[in-house]
Amino acid sequence: NRRVLLKSRPQGEPTPANFDIVEAPIPEPGEGEYLARTVWLSLDPYMRGRMAEAKGYAANVNLGDPMVGGTVSQVIKSRHPGFKDGDFVADYAGWQSYSVSNGAGAIKLDPQAAPLSAALSVLGMPGMTAWWGLMQIGKPKAGETVVVSAASGAVGSVVGQLAKLHGCRAVGIAGGKEKCDYVVKELGFDACVDYRAAGGNLFKEIRAAAPKGIDVYFENVGGAVQAAVVPQLNDFARVPLCGLISQYNEMQMSPGPDWRLLLIKRATVTGFIVSDHFADMAGFWKEVPPAVKAGRIKYREDIVNGIENAPEAFIGLLKGRNFGKLLVQVSDD
Ligand code: NDP
Repeated sequence: NRRVLLKSRPQGEPTPANFDIVEAPIPEPGEGEYLARTVWLSLDPYMRGRMAEAKGYAANVNLGDPMVGGTVSQVIKSRHPGFKDGDFVADYAGWQSYSVSNGAGAIKLDPQAAPLSAALSVLGMPGMTAWWGLMQIGKPKAGETVVVSAASGAVGSVVGQLAKLHGCRAVGIAGGKEKCDYVVKELGFDACVDYRAAGGNLFKEIRAAAPKGIDVYFENVGGAVQAAVVPQLNDFARVPLCGLISQYNEMQMSPGPDWRLLLIKRATVTGFIVSDHFADMAGFWKEVPPAVKAGRIKYREDIVNGIENAPEAFIGLLKGRNFGKLLVQVSDD
């Protein structure tokens, strides 16, 4: 059983030395448990918070424990009445190739209904994040302008496509020409600003892409992008505050948005954590899976092979090296 443990807490950017890759015996399921092999492991930005000492909204990983993470697994030895050998489940097995579970929180998957990996991307946590933040907090109206940062990624790509389906102008912000081309040409956004190439012209480039101002800013990154967007918010704009990835490796928090501007614009900024709302996703299930099936919402996966390569891939995620939902293929599906 290959496992990736948290060896030390990162100071700034994580490095390979923060992780330990070990081989352990394959565990035996007890009565009421099952043994599963991990097929897909999801790598997500929130894991940076779990590596830290400081308390976040969920418990951090203890030193010496396996890194946590969402997975798709296949049951290979069941002693649980609700699961049989061969079942595929979406669960939370973490960075390891085998796990034992009592089934709590595991959701059975139908491999015929959709590719298994989609349960970790567009049909799973990131898709729900996009839907909840945009529809419940952003409340887009037809004709409005929706701007989303990290636009080519797992969450941002769905935000912009949903905005289009609801009749909005969708503007992405992403790092690099390739990602911006994808956002416009493949996903159908109206425009995309390359914040890496824009340099000091970022404000102007966003204004050119969103000439009527910004009604919804779906915030994924913070930092310089946020600073360029906030002054361009329209009155009564809504800002679903989803993530601040540009700051996750910072040792000291950089200053936030200009509160005077938020007051003058009467903007609503709402932070949210998607797991608070997992039980309340009827609207997501009604809207997103059919749109994916019909090709109205597209998604892209960035696949890394082998669990031993998870640390490098995760380090890259925090620097924008991924292009699409970052997944580790741990074993064959
Ligand atoms: P992505 O697939 O979008 O990958 C992360 C992307 O963030 C990178 O590809 C990169 O894109 C961008 N990025 C990385 N570093 C920086 C930086 N320094 N400055 C600006 N952009 C950077 O990840 P997800 O879609 O999974 O997550 C997107 C955001 O949503 C994150 O902030 C995450 O924490 C948040 N999130 C929040 C949830 C919640 O419940 N609130 C749930 C899930 C995700 P580029 O090259 O374009 O810069």
